[in-house]
Amino acid sequence: MMLRFASLGSGSSGNATIVSDGTTHILVDCGFSVRETTYRLSRLGLALTDLTALLVTHEHSDHIRGVPLLARRCAIPVYMTRGTYESRALGNIPQLTLISSDQPFAIGEITVQPVPVPHDAREPVQYVFRRAGRSLGILTDLGSIDHCVLAAYGGCDALLLEANHDRHMLAVGPYPMSLKRRVAGPWGHLSNEQAVAFLEQIDTDRLQHLVVGHISRKNNSIALAAAALATLSKPLCAPAFACQDEGFGWLQVV
Ligand SMILES: [Zn+2]
Ligand SMILES: [Zn+2]
Repeated sequence: MMLRFASLGSGSSGNATIVSDGTTHILVDCGFSVRETTYRLSRLGLALTDLTALLVTHEHSDHIRGVPLLARRCAIPVYMTRGTYESRALGNIPQLTLISSDQPFAIGEITVQPVPVPHDAREPVQYVFRRAGRSLGILTDLGSIDHCVLAAYGGCDALLLEANHDRHMLAVGPYPMSLKRRVAGPWGHLSNEQAVAFLEQIDTDRLQHLVVGHISRKNNSIALAAAALATLSKPLCAPAFACQDEGFGWLQVV
């Protein structure tokens, strides 16, 4: 019963990641309609009825679009922070568990560690999952790296890491100035350079899968993110890139 993970899609138009040990299937965020989620899950060999739980990171629409309907229609237990719930973006959730942003909890045999992150939402968290001595970190939607994030993600066996924008492309790109400032600011999103700096600072000795995600289609490209990662001063596993339409297929943490 090893940890494995896959993405239904990643980027500013919608995010959803599945974490599984073969018995417990946890969906992290659901930024797609129920119909689209059903289709994308089927590509991974799963149905809505297979889902054990739905974890929400924060209330931005690219993460919650499908959450209320999915929660109501399929009666899936949903976990989120009080701040995320009180943002009132989600409406009535029948099987809601409010979590503390720094207290681990268990879903089946998987331990879930929420990690508070600097992002412009009410009480955003990201998650580290542990099962049988292995750990998988999901880290997107944060504007800066603080010591709490560094401590939580060091030593992970697998990582889904945001590299949202190339700073130059964002600066000369189509976004209005206020949005450029927001994205590049300390409560926005990680740039390619920040993602590389994060990897330089954490212990990556055990890292067997690095997936780069939440890549902006307007302000970044896989080629630019890959070029930035190639500047890393230490050897690392070859990165994979999650895209908006395809996400990425199952990766097993061995
Ligand atoms: Zn997002
Ligand atoms: Zn966000």
